[in-house]
Amino acid sequence: MEHDALEQGPIPAQIEFRGVTKMYGAVSAVKDLSLSVPHGEFLTILGPSGSGKTTALMLLAGFVAPSKGDILISGKSVAAVPSFRRDQGIVFQSYALFPHLTVRRNLEFPLEMRGMVAIERAARIDRMLARVHLNDLGDRMPSQLSGGQQQRVALARALIADPPILLLDEPLGALDRNLREQMQGEIKSLHREFGKTTICVTHDQEEALTLSDRIVVMRAGQIEQADTPEALYDRPATRFVADFLGEANILENHDFEVEADVEQPFGSVAMIRPERIGIAAPTAPCRADADQRQSVTGTVEGMIYAGPLRKYQVRVGSSLLVVREQVASGGQIFRPDDAVRLDWLRSDVRIVAA
Ligand code: ADP
Ligand code: MG
Repeated sequence: MEHDALEQGPIPAQIEFRGVTKMYGAVSAVKDLSLSVPHGEFLTILGPSGSGKTTALMLLAGFVAPSKGDILISGKSVAAVPSFRRDQGIVFQSYALFPHLTVRRNLEFPLEMRGMVAIERAARIDRMLARVHLNDLGDRMPSQLSGGQQQRVALARALIADPPILLLDEPLGALDRNLREQMQGEIKSLHREFGKTTICVTHDQEEALTLSDRIVVMRAGQIEQADTPEALYDRPATRFVADFLGEANILENHDFEVEADVEQPFGSVAMIRPERIGIAAPTAPCRADADQRQSVTGTVEGMIYAGPLRKYQVRVGSSLLVVREQVASGGQIFRPDDAVRLDWLRSDVRIVAA
């Protein structure tokens, strides 16, 4: 048995992009994209509008053909496989439900396509409707459902034929904030339960951080950086990633010298996250670990109170730093024009490519 396992070699990635380029005229929407996605991973492609996210997904779905390169599923090229035979469930931002069919008929369509008999179809639809909490709505038309309910139907329809791969394009983009958070929880729990290899495309960093095992940040058709949410946030490789994922204080053109634990090569800038900066009155006693910190003095320009967080803008010489602080009861609140001392651990300073 061990011998067999050795002969088979490593399990091929479920999905693999190999040097894929898609040109539209002179524009490369996707440029030399190489990416492996293992079985069961929830991968999010994150990037600004126009960065090539949807094109990457359409290439995988087979709606668009590569200009160069190849896409493999379970180790085999799908270049010659038409989209309807790729066995992928797809959810678009705009729901794309059949408007003239009831919810049940919408769910039935993929099962009919696969030749499942009527009695099995009905049983499976009942189970799926219950799973997405739409038991009583099977006979409604899509126009009689709320946005969140329509998106549940779209998810149910994508999953009902049990495809090994699920593709989501800005699935929550049309929903308001509360509903979006609720649906994020729903998508996460469906992923845990069904374990589908999932590729989700979004421009929403919070969605990406919440849902993903791994995030690919795209910029102008190329991968800028790919890593776990935690690693991307804590160790962004470039200024673009630091700015796009969370908030970043870029420490350049300052009146003070930035002290960092590591050297700052040419073409890079120092960065510190707002929550890594401490704020105190200038007269406050120094911290126990003051020798590991850099401290500067400044003046508060603005304060925003946002639930459990306070966000300060602090003028330090010619630059403005953002400081984010957890609101603790009894903690000191600073007001505009207050003088303050900021400090941070030198080890919290990150060096990123400019
Ligand atoms: P995203 O989903 O990240 O917003 P897209 O993949 O939709 O980005 O688009 C990437 C780039 O390719 C953009 O510059 C866009 O204008 C261009 N593009 C996408 N689809 C087409 C098309 N069908 N024809 C021409 N250009 C396109
Ligand atoms: Mg898009």
